[in-house]
Amino acid sequence: MAEKNLFSLIPKVDEILEKDEIIELLNNIPRKIVLDSIRSEIENLREQIKAGKMKQEDICLANDIIHLKVIERAREKYSFNLKRVVNGTGIVIHTNLGRSLINKEIMENVSEIATNYSNLEYNLETGKRGSRYSHLEDIISEITGAEAAMVVNNNAAAVILVLSTIAKEKEIIVSRGELIEIGGAFRIPDVMRQSGASLVEVGTTNKTHLWDYEDAINEETGAFFKVHTSNYRIMGFSSNVDSSELHSLKEKYNIPLIEDLGSGVLIDLSKYGIEYEPTVQDSIKSGVDIVTFSGDKLLGGPQVGIIVGKAEYIEKMKKNPFTRAFRVDKFTISALEATLRYYSDKGVAEKEIPTLQMLTIPIEKLEEKASKLEKMLADKIDEGKVKIEIKDDYSEVGGGSLPLEKLPTKCLVFTLEESTQKFESYLRKFKTPIIARLYREQLYLDVRTIREDEFSIVVDGIVFAINNLKGAN
Ligand SMILES: *Cc1c(COP(=O)(O)O)cnc(C)c1O
Repeated sequence: MAEKNLFSLIPKVDEILEKDEIIELLNNIPRKIVLDSIRSEIENLREQIKAGKMKQEDICLANDIIHLKVIERAREKYSFNLKRVVNGTGIVIHTNLGRSLINKEIMENVSEIATNYSNLEYNLETGKRGSRYSHLEDIISEITGAEAAMVVNNNAAAVILVLSTIAKEKEIIVSRGELIEIGGAFRIPDVMRQSGASLVEVGTTNKTHLWDYEDAINEETGAFFKVHTSNYRIMGFSSNVDSSELHSLKEKYNIPLIEDLGSGVLIDLSKYGIEYEPTVQDSIKSGVDIVTFSGDKLLGGPQVGIIVGKAEYIEKMKKNPFTRAFRVDKFTISALEATLRYYSDKGVAEKEIPTLQMLTIPIEKLEEKASKLEKMLADKIDEGKVKIEIKDDYSEVGGGSLPLEKLPTKCLVFTLEESTQKFESYLRKFKTPIIARLYREQLYLDVRTIREDEFSIVVDGIVFAINNLKGAN
């Protein structure tokens, strides 16, 4: 057929619009997006005909499914860029997947604050202006035993604010063994310099002694700074000075002691077989003047940096212009207040805070979860296409916390005859992406970080990936 006639075989926009599936689609997706998608698909066909790639039969086949392509294109265009995923990696505090989860009950509270006016900066007793920090100060002080507290956007901001308030244009003494990179190429020494203080590095990578700190003291010294090396460990011939030892120097020379704890553990998790991490309460007890930590790591709350310690310093920080630049919004305050309330009872915290719950779940429960998911999959998937088995493996805490900790877990392991990589990429492209781990040509899904209410999504995603593999062959 002549080229001109081939073009005449392409359906008209109106014809596509009349298809039942498209009419249904218009209930959920704005007309403009549907129309744009129809035009794009028609243009696609046109280009292929122009390039001489289509014969008459090909065009007829393409016409039969053009509305399905329109639906796919429109849905993709209309879906959010930031969307939920299923975390099958077993890394509980996965920084790339959003760190800690907030439970639904807390989100109801956040939604109430977000959709209504609130007393964010309004004192209901006096009817005058209030402080957004007042909602959190008492509860944080109560839990940590600190005199005062405040909250900023994240822990890196907390470090800058603290150092710029206490040691601007002065020297900060820090051990060479603690100059860590947090991740994403952000380094503690760079963060520290942004505060306007200068760094005085003491000791060596593996050993720092109390006298290293003492030797470095002069009139310019503004603070001692301790960084909890939460994301790596120096083993073997090594020693460092802990904050309680530094306390004596601090008293002798009247120099403030600041500690960046990173993870911010508020309860000892060692009874669950998780290595003991110094808690915020320990630091405060040992006499540290100011402690900073993240809200969305082991604490299990929203993204914040929490600063606790002596009231005289916290009061000064509140007046630092950085405080305004780093301030937290009302959703965050609301979510953090609700998360902290769970900490009034350890048992409740471990049950209600998803991060703690996933870290403390017993192995028998993981085994039950794995069998349940395996059965659901067996009902939907033919043997032969893919072999599925349950294997012992290890999960990680993540978030730069407890790097050596290996938590025994149960994984569903998928063995395919071909391209496990492709299988993994189809799972990632599923409408609710499923993030898995590849290891030695097998695909692992760790049930520790997958909730039971996500199992049906996982099953649908696996079916989707298998069908796509078949289609690709
Ligand atoms: C994670 C971490 C930070 C950064 O905290 P954010 O809340 O991500 O800004 C800083 N210091 C230490 C020791 C950390 O572990």
